[in-house]
Amino acid sequence: MLGYVHVPFCHRVCPYCSFYKHTPGGISVGGFVEAVLRESTRRVSELPEKPRTLFLGGGTPSMLSPSLLKKLFVGLDQSMSLDSMDEVSMEANPATFDEAKAKVFLACGVRRISLGIQSFSEKMLTVLGREHDPEQAAESVRLLRRAGMPSINIDLMFSLPNQTMDDWRETLQIAISLEPDHLSAYNLTYEEDTAFFDSFQDGKMRQSEELNEAMFYEAHEMLERAGYRHYETSNYARPSHESIHNQGYWAGEDYLGLGPSAVSTVHGERSRNIADTANYIRMINGIGHAIEDVEVLSDEARRLEKIAMGLRTQEGIARAWLDDKGMARMQVLIEEEFAAIKGEYYILTKKGSALVDAIAAEVI
Ligand code: SF4
Repeated sequence: MLGYVHVPFCHRVCPYCSFYKHTPGGISVGGFVEAVLRESTRRVSELPEKPRTLFLGGGTPSMLSPSLLKKLFVGLDQSMSLDSMDEVSMEANPATFDEAKAKVFLACGVRRISLGIQSFSEKMLTVLGREHDPEQAAESVRLLRRAGMPSINIDLMFSLPNQTMDDWRETLQIAISLEPDHLSAYNLTYEEDTAFFDSFQDGKMRQSEELNEAMFYEAHEMLERAGYRHYETSNYARPSHESIHNQGYWAGEDYLGLGPSAVSTVHGERSRNIADTANYIRMINGIGHAIEDVEVLSDEARRLEKIAMGLRTQEGIARAWLDDKGMARMQVLIEEEFAAIKGEYYILTKKGSALVDAIAAEVI
């Protein structure tokens, strides 16, 4: 069982982001924290076991004040027992914390920080509407180290509007020079209901499949040369710094999601919390939960999800998960060197990893 808490607040909204988030506006952040703690107490008590990981995502959890962070983690510890967990992670944005606050993260029990840096190019950060500059981003890594954070991830994005290969290489070089324990390199996707999606639809922003692939390969080459293991399509880690929470998720482990818009999957049932913070708080305080809809997953739906996620990982997918058609298609992919056999598993080659979504659609 994995645990997730969604903190929906951001200082400002980035034009490419499709997560549920907003500026605090008139909503009480303290009221949100109390609602999450109430939800945690109730929902954890209904689980067959306590979560073995906690991931605080969003949104920007690091913008919570030190006192609210402490209150949140003390309360989560009471319901989930953070000390006995395999991993406690939190997302943070540069320019939302200093060294003193980084020490608060540690005092709260956080042992892994995932930093939303995205780029070390001033030009690209402006395009992305980020509030930090390259130096603040680099300094955020250094100050987490100075504070003693045991594991640090940097999130980067490529295939950005007008990004050149030289821009991408420079960002990767700076990231490597900061010696994070883990790097995530995501291809920008134009998600519906974002300002970027509208610009893409209007033809003001474009993407080139060739450049996408070339940037994916460049990240693979540079990061593996620097000692990072490519263990999932978008993720690279130094030994023993793979994300335990994400590995559990990719392997199809059950998870409890708390907070507005959070999704849970427990015993084949998927539930979603309302994606509206004010109503989330109202529902928790009024009826004790904020679940908006529940879906019972069929075995077939779970099989397809396992394949789509397993193909992204170095472990791959069990041959037994594929039906006859999927096996036949996989055979062709192996002949074309997009996939390979590893014992009883199929894994994607480097060439296949660059096209993982298309391959998943092909075999399921
Ligand atoms: S800071 Fe992160 S969560 Fe907030 S809008 Fe930007 S990308 Fe989305």
